[in-house]
Amino acid sequence: MNRGNTVDRVPQTAELSPELLALLACPVADCHAPLIARDGRLVCSRCGLRYVVGDRWINLIPEEAEPTEGR
Ligand SMILES: [Zn+2]
Repeated sequence: MNRGNTVDRVPQTAELSPELLALLACPVADCHAPLIARDGRLVCSRCGLRYVVGDRWINLIPEEAEPTEGR
């Protein structure tokens, strides 16, 4: 189905500036380690939780983060 109007898709890259990364820390109570951008996720350098990053948002809820893969 072809609708009349077209929407230009603007390529969005989840770019995380070093300044922003420096402000972010793992929200887990006894962790608070720096986060590392990897594979479109923010990975905690300590507990290994992988926080999901969207176009303009970062989900820093530990319960919704992905557990680290293996060891
Ligand atoms: Zn952590």
